[in-house]
Amino acid sequence: MNGVPLRFPVTCPKCGRESLVEFPLVQIADAILNDRRIRLTAPCHGESWNANEIEVQQICEYLDAACLDRRKTSVAGLGLSCSPGDCDRTEGIA
Ligand SMILES: [Zn+2]
Repeated sequence: MNGVPLRFPVTCPKCGRESLVEFPLVQIADAILNDRRIRLTAPCHGESWNANEIEVQQICEYLDAACLDRRKTSVAGLGLSCSPGDCDRTEGIA
């Protein structure tokens, strides 16, 4: 029920290739709302790293768009506001 995927591009730190990855939307939203780190993985090299501030901002934009799409379904049920203000709360994420 909460398995709504969020797709967004990540750039591999090893080869610089951009790949589309898919994470559970709930997991990403939870991390952003709770100022937790988002662990990203690049499929081409299996490399994983914590999203930096810029990446979190980008992910936040994708999350925002997904929330608009799905407002009537799962996201609304989670009680997420997904307001742009949430994206300003990335200062605490190292
Ligand atoms: Zn790579």
